[in-house]
Amino acid sequence: MSYPDLSDRIREVREKIDAAVKRGGHGQSVTIVAVTKTHGPDALAAAWNAGLRDVGENRVQEALDKMDVRPLQLRWHLIGTLQRNKVKHLTRFHLLHSIDRPQLADAVQAHGAATDRVVDALLQVNVVGEESKGGYDPAAAAADASRLTSLKNIRFRGVMTMAPLDADEPTLRAVFAGARATRETLRAAGHAGATELSMGMSGDYELAVEEGATLVRLGTVLFGART
Ligand SMILES: *Cc1c(COP(=O)(O)O)cnc(C)c1O
Repeated sequence: MSYPDLSDRIREVREKIDAAVKRGGHGQSVTIVAVTKTHGPDALAAAWNAGLRDVGENRVQEALDKMDVRPLQLRWHLIGTLQRNKVKHLTRFHLLHSIDRPQLADAVQAHGAATDRVVDALLQVNVVGEESKGGYDPAAAAADASRLTSLKNIRFRGVMTMAPLDADEPTLRAVFAGARATRETLRAAGHAGATELSMGMSGDYELAVEEGATLVRLGTVLFGART
């Protein structure tokens, strides 16, 4: 498959993001993470040629396969659930968005210590307690925040969340503002580098940006529907 109008789509999305930053008043800069899951390596080449440098995959193996086919200097974001037995693959990723439970934090810490590196990661929060999604509940995140500062091989860069599909605007705003509040909780607990907010997908990124998103994870709006 080819993606001939990707540059136009990115331009439109960028305009909407810029307008949303103005409306929201948070003054942040926003990075587009192009979510290429289910799309072939052509999507990566198209993203690269259109000037994007950040790509996201929700499954480790799919990402690794594409990295091998396309050795472009892209920054790979892991945005989906990570099994503890796969933490060794984190060396290939720029940012892990989905530390969603204390056991995973511990496994990432052990991997970082064993390989003598510091892993950049986000804490995933499940603001409205959706059963179908992972993530710390905000109270649990607050309770664990101070302990997490002792995990010296993880650098918590902020918070990630996913809003419920088809939620109304007040619910979306509550979810995104809740994620922002958890980021402030992390900072107050001593995570000085927690500046990022990964939130917003194709259907809700404008609201997410109004609420302060710094990383938007976009698939469909860039590459079309997944088959
Ligand atoms: C698939 C996926 C996205 C992108 O979804 P779109 O609605 O296609 O933009 C974003 N975040 C995560 C975690 C995903 O799994």
